[in-house]
Amino acid sequence: MLKTHQCGELRPQHAGQSVTLAGWVNRQRDHGGLIFVDLRDRSGRVQVVTDPTHAPDAHDVATKVRQEYVLQVRGVVRARPEGLTNPDMPTGDVEVLAEEVTILNAAKTPPFYIFDDSPVDETLRLKYRYLDLRRQRMQRNIVLRHKVVKTIRDFLNDHGFVEIETPILFKTTPEGARDYLVPSRVHPGTFYALPQSPQQLKQLLMVAGFERYFQIARCFRDEDQRGDRQPEFTQLDMEMSFVERDDVMALTEEMMTGIIENLSDRTLLTKPFPRFTYAEAMARYGTDRPDIRFGMELTDVSDLVAGSTFRVFSATVASGGQVKGIRAPGCAVYSRRQIDELTELAQKEGAQGLAWLALDDAGEVRSSFSKFLSAEETAAIVAHMGAVPGDLLLFVAAPPKVTAAALSALRLELGDRLGLRDRQVLGCCWVVEFPLFEWNADEARWDPSHHLFTAPMAEDLHLLDSDPGAARGQQYDFVCNGEETGGGSIRIHQRDVQEKVFGLIGLDIETARERFGHMLEAFEYGTPPHGGIAPGIDRLVMLLAGESNIREVMAFPKTLQAADLMAGAPSPAEPKQLEELHIRLVTGDEK
Ligand code: ASP
Repeated sequence: MLKTHQCGELRPQHAGQSVTLAGWVNRQRDHGGLIFVDLRDRSGRVQVVTDPTHAPDAHDVATKVRQEYVLQVRGVVRARPEGLTNPDMPTGDVEVLAEEVTILNAAKTPPFYIFDDSPVDETLRLKYRYLDLRRQRMQRNIVLRHKVVKTIRDFLNDHGFVEIETPILFKTTPEGARDYLVPSRVHPGTFYALPQSPQQLKQLLMVAGFERYFQIARCFRDEDQRGDRQPEFTQLDMEMSFVERDDVMALTEEMMTGIIENLSDRTLLTKPFPRFTYAEAMARYGTDRPDIRFGMELTDVSDLVAGSTFRVFSATVASGGQVKGIRAPGCAVYSRRQIDELTELAQKEGAQGLAWLALDDAGEVRSSFSKFLSAEETAAIVAHMGAVPGDLLLFVAAPPKVTAAALSALRLELGDRLGLRDRQVLGCCWVVEFPLFEWNADEARWDPSHHLFTAPMAEDLHLLDSDPGAARGQQYDFVCNGEETGGGSIRIHQRDVQEKVFGLIGLDIETARERFGHMLEAFEYGTPPHGGIAPGIDRLVMLLAGESNIREVMAFPKTLQAADLMAGAPSPAEPKQLEELHIRLVTGDEK
């Protein structure tokens, strides 16, 4: 080894010891006479001093070093003199008096500072990711990720799970996003699909009798990169045989609770995790991914305004819509402009407008609609909303889906503005009893709301024939701080039910056989009842690290345009490669 100790581990008890360190120059300061080199490795940093009267050669070398040079330092640990300690550094009570300094490698001046975490343009960070990864924040995040995965492996091993790898070159999977295709050289004109998840294979592993499987699985989805999605991401993919919904949820919850409590400095809001039915989550939060760190729940005032002379309200209710509101504490002072901003936000979600009512500190009402209502009607709304002086009430009148979407967006926005979405807290919950299907009006067919192997709830099985839209699935979503952090389900294990679902989603049996024939066939050889879940590792680590983007917890992420800026991927292929793959490129004119 080129080193005997890690920079970050030195403490007063090492004083007097001769050590050899190796690492990067965090900073170098020439104090006329003495030179101080802040030496950094993965463990942290320590101050090295060179003294020309003590070791002139070492001092000479130190005059030449610059930021990010790679050094080896041999020296003796000593306590820093009184008054010169640095309480901000874990090694701040000691320093290393150098005997010998060797430059192992010089470095160009980096395009941004490594030694502090000051903000740097993300494009630059991604282009020089290897330097960005040297920074403290990224080191911390990546090491946290390692610990999370290690904890998961240990936990699942202790619970009888077997880790099994499944192929990356495979066939289309049922999640329903666009596939990444890989052309086959050996079979001209055919393609592998990169798995959107190992869904089919993990189910086949249950048919194969493994009973408890997991994999830290890379998944690929060629979707437009909204927000913090990535074209390839990592899931903890799990599947269990002979279980019911609550078994999978209980095991996942035990694992998540352990991870949060042992590996992060965040506070878990509540345990056990609250459970909401989909209907309840939509009614109270307007979303199936409720952020439960704060209240501000949606209140339905439809009944109160159904008979009102304010047409916007009454006509909406008459046509099957809803009038619902939220109560923003302390926001009665909002200006016209602030309310306009909120209105725009509601409109982005499809609402026609935003009705509002402010109850000032004296209890006086100012409102966009009270002139259309009687004083009693207004008072009834205020009372029903539980408003107190200082509150701003916001109402949306629209079809239920739009009301939910608009108020959910407003709730999150106000939660941000009021500082209620504290990243220090992790609010975890479950959402269950999702509708099994969503109606796809464009294609005039049902789409699976999770995926096509999700089993209907036993008591809703008969609805597949009479009212598929009302059938609920045995699906469960794990939600943390308003982010869907994992989803899973109990699967269909009977061929007749599976074929019925294929029919409803407009997959004729021929196509179904072509795509999933191997599954249908496998299901005829004794399939155990089974179910699983796939928590997203990237999202989980992001929340544990208090980051707001999954790119911050991935070593080499891609940009929103699905590009790798460091290596320059994707990139053109050589004509010879294309020829071997039987591919001819279509030029702009031919399109
Ligand atoms: N494969 C599913 C998904 O990626 C998860 C599961 O059902 O286990 O959403």
